[in-house]
Amino acid sequence: QKFVYFFGNGQADGRSDMKNLLGGKGANLAEMTSIGLPVPPGFTISTEVCTEFYKNDRKYPSSLAAEVSANLKRVEELMGKKFGDPVNPLLVSVRSGARASMPGMMDTVLNLGLNDVTVQGIIAQSGDERFAYDAYRRFVQMYSDVVMGMEKEILDHLLEKKKEQRGVHLDTELTAEDWKELVAVFKSAVKEELGKEFPEDPEEQLWGAIGAVFGSWMNQRAITYRRLNNIPAEWGTAVNVQSMVFGNMGNDCATGVAFTRDPSTGENYFYGEFLVNAQGEDVVAGIRTPQPINRVKDKDGKLPSMEEVLPECYRQLAQIRTILETHYKDMQDIEFTIEKGILYMLQTRNGKRTAPAAIKIAVDMVNEGLIDKKAAVLRVAPAQLDQLLHPSLDPKAEKKVIAKGLPASPGAVSGEVVFTADEAETAAKQGHKVILVRIETSPEDIHGMHAAQGILTARGGMTSHAAVVARGMGKCCVAGCGDIKVDYNGETFSARNGVTVKKGDIITLDGSSGEVMLGAVPTVPVQLTGDFGTLMEWVDTFRTMKVRANSDTPHDSRVARDFGAEGIGLCRTEHMFFDAERIAAVREMILSEELEGRERALAKILPMQKGDFIGIFREMKGLPVTIRLLDPPLHEFLPQAEKDIEDLARTMKVTVNAIKHKVEFLHEFNPMLGHRGCRLGITFPEIYDMQVRAIMEAACELVKNEGFNIVPEIMIPLIATAKELQVLKENAVAICEEVIASYGVKVEYLIGTMIELPRAALTADEVAVEAQFFSFGTNDLTQTTFGLSRDDAGKFLPFYVDHGILPEDPFVSLDQSGVGKLVKIACELGRSTRAGIKLGICGEHGGDPASVIFCHNIGLDYVSCSPFRVPIARLAAAHAAL
Ligand code: ADP
Ligand code: MG
Ligand code: MG
Repeated sequence: QKFVYFFGNGQADGRSDMKNLLGGKGANLAEMTSIGLPVPPGFTISTEVCTEFYKNDRKYPSSLAAEVSANLKRVEELMGKKFGDPVNPLLVSVRSGARASMPGMMDTVLNLGLNDVTVQGIIAQSGDERFAYDAYRRFVQMYSDVVMGMEKEILDHLLEKKKEQRGVHLDTELTAEDWKELVAVFKSAVKEELGKEFPEDPEEQLWGAIGAVFGSWMNQRAITYRRLNNIPAEWGTAVNVQSMVFGNMGNDCATGVAFTRDPSTGENYFYGEFLVNAQGEDVVAGIRTPQPINRVKDKDGKLPSMEEVLPECYRQLAQIRTILETHYKDMQDIEFTIEKGILYMLQTRNGKRTAPAAIKIAVDMVNEGLIDKKAAVLRVAPAQLDQLLHPSLDPKAEKKVIAKGLPASPGAVSGEVVFTADEAETAAKQGHKVILVRIETSPEDIHGMHAAQGILTARGGMTSHAAVVARGMGKCCVAGCGDIKVDYNGETFSARNGVTVKKGDIITLDGSSGEVMLGAVPTVPVQLTGDFGTLMEWVDTFRTMKVRANSDTPHDSRVARDFGAEGIGLCRTEHMFFDAERIAAVREMILSEELEGRERALAKILPMQKGDFIGIFREMKGLPVTIRLLDPPLHEFLPQAEKDIEDLARTMKVTVNAIKHKVEFLHEFNPMLGHRGCRLGITFPEIYDMQVRAIMEAACELVKNEGFNIVPEIMIPLIATAKELQVLKENAVAICEEVIASYGVKVEYLIGTMIELPRAALTADEVAVEAQFFSFGTNDLTQTTFGLSRDDAGKFLPFYVDHGILPEDPFVSLDQSGVGKLVKIACELGRSTRAGIKLGICGEHGGDPASVIFCHNIGLDYVSCSPFRVPIARLAAAHAAL
């Protein structure tokens, strides 16, 4: 079995489609090598070694050592250098690379192979003593941190001390002698702190670093990242060993990162940052302010671009940009280094992007002939659209801007200021909206970034950790905000005009402009661009399942239609009962002892209900509307406040005590499983009669007076047995026919039911004899199948998910193997007695991409979700069909 894959000099054992084996980085280093791009030679140790390593008690396969040394030899031959050689030593980097890119999760060691002997070789070869010792001290810093577990701050502190001693501010001001001394100081600090020598032997260094990469696969931050991104631990990481190129050998050297298009807007221009005379992650670490790659886009014109500083390299890089896009047919995120005017590619991968960028790039690439429409549709992740549908600042709102940083990830959010990731997590768990404010973020902060509404950092560029991770999460982020000074100890930050913001104060971030504002600034929904419309048109040509929305008001119905809803899958009528002027009549109805009293109260509600339905039918312009009859337990409508009770007593001409008595009588121990849904309809038929009448009168009026074509779908909730439905349907049909006759028009209507109890699902063949449609109420069906109450689940469900007892919150993503199985069974049974029965889903799951795909696969006619999730559901349905 082959464990090591070579790349170099135009030839590679691997390919870009071997990501599972070589990790993303290794596979693409191989691919870039094969297509003739300048990549420093090296080799990749496959992910299988990682898997074996953990399977065999952290031991490597026995053939690995020989393979590594054979491949190292090939690299030495290509480079004309030897690893550990005193005269012309080869230095390498050791880099991790998993299948899915895990930004910042694994640590890279650069300049490996340096010791007190080889450093002399580097001096002799480069003729640059300062460079050699700078490289050496970096190596000691990185290696002791990543491989040996030395606390990074200790050496950082020693470096600071040195600068103080020498009276300088910048690393670049230290001399060869300084660095040389620091190497010795660092090493003895390591010895003192860890009780062991820093390894001098390059072989030992190499294997130490390889072991550290494999070891880091199981460190806490990697585990957290995998959990948040659903990456299985079995995938493992690969290790890349690559000969070093140096961006820090003078002013004809540089290192940088770039995107082949703007990852924030999707605009087609070369977007990136670089630093002259720098190494490795200096660009993303935010130590020095990086310069732009492209002259045109540096709006302030303060910093010279790479186009100006290194024109020849820029030209070459721009060419590579085109080659990569044509080859990968996607926007690339690249890392490069320039050594003495020669450009080297160190990484490429499909770049992370915001939702607006994803859409623009997909549409542009179709227009450029790079990809087809199908690929474009698949390019945009349904869940990502959520970001687009986030609000932006109300342009008319007053705002007090206290600082401005980089617009790193769009959206506008407000929240309380917190300064640590842990605080962010705790506060978010308690239901607070928070903004995480950090000097800069690191992988240790991921959980806090996840919990926060938005992220504000004082340091770092557009490609800093905070910016990259926030864009990936679709979180609002303002980065590199030099206007603020963060004081972790005092738990405050100061901004312009001497404004001091304390922990707990509310601020607003605008991730699209970079502005930081005091207080909560009002927001408005986003305007969707032309590209969005174009993409969604393509989406609709591919999908076969319809998408409806859940809406109770004419306003929401309009929003839903604007987002492309093809009907209303769930119109809840109970919300209409809570209106201030109606609730009195509703209470009167509930509390009347006699039928007569109830009918009197219902007669007051009827015209209002009818008005609601007219409004909704009108908005939906003949598209199907499913209306659910009253569902919640009656006691939800009962008066609680003394004053309400007194008012009611007066209207109904009864005593206050009589009302209180009745309220007590209606109390239920478990309302979720109590007197609700069709059980109300059975015991108080006049309620449903009134609702059916309101629906049909509304429909008939519009058909008669405004020439609409309306087919109301009347939905009876919480059926457990076919008999319940049969009784209620009979009543409903009688009313419908009566109304239709009285208007003298022809109106069709459907009567169906919600499937939200396991018994209904299991007897769906019997139920379908009566029901013209099923709508799966998967919120209740999840509650009743799991036997858990949604309102109480918060106390233990997160624990279940955290500990992997449940893969996901079943109220967010449909539990396909349990609840989903019931849905599937009910579909099959339903169709067995009523071929062509209309089937849909109206739970919260209708807007969850994975659940939508499931619904497509079991052949539902439609999903229905909240209006703002309609585009997500449409896209997910298209993905399911492709
Ligand atoms: P990450 O996965 O965090 O991006 P990388 O393995 O890409 O880590 O390494 C980080 C940076 O280190 C690279 O962007 C590059 O600047 C530098 N680097 C890695 N390998 C080399 C090398 N062989 N020569 C020069 N620089 C390197
Ligand atoms: Mg890194
Ligand atoms: Mg990288």
